[in-house]
Amino acid sequence: MQNTIERKVKGKILTLLILKAILITLALLLLGDLISTFLYHVPEHVFGKFHAAVHHGKNRNFFHYAVLNRNPLVLFDGFLGALPYFIFIPWFWKISPFGTVIGLILGELHVIWRHVSILEWKTPEPIARICDRLYITTPERHWLHHQDAMVAYGDIFTFYDRPARAWLSWLTSKKKAIRSLVRDQTNASEQLG
Ligand SMILES: [Zn+2]
Ligand SMILES: [Zn+2]
Repeated sequence: MQNTIERKVKGKILTLLILKAILITLALLLLGDLISTFLYHVPEHVFGKFHAAVHHGKNRNFFHYAVLNRNPLVLFDGFLGALPYFIFIPWFWKISPFGTVIGLILGELHVIWRHVSILEWKTPEPIARICDRLYITTPERHWLHHQDAMVAYGDIFTFYDRPARAWLSWLTSKKKAIRSLVRDQTNASEQLG
């Protein structure tokens, strides 16, 4: 009797631990991609040149894109993109260290996987279909972003693409407005002077 109760309690604790780990893994990937896309990736394409030069340049190889080389600039762009995944570690670690570690490993593996297109990789049809259902970015889809920085946002999750593109065009319009305001003011002060 005692043993059965003990076993049941242990079973419940184990289920709870697994559930917590799954939730933390998901939360880390979802929030990391959200913040990385909206606060780093899209603004960099509008206002910066760094990410575009480092991550979208021609004649790059797989090791470059997958941040597997020692070039400090590549590592720095990779670090800025990955920072949003790291900021949650102190909180998530308290809830589930296992889920946090799995989330970070999966995030890192996805960086490598989404850049294998350059190695002439073709995602097997069943896997591509599963990714499509789960809104997960495949290497083929991420490659579209490398070819055209206006499309295919969302490093890990494809559902960030639409809002990211809306955010991109809003920021671009604000940048244009600021530029023309500055130009008008310079013209006006030149005329006055
Ligand atoms: Zn990339
Ligand atoms: Zn980009």
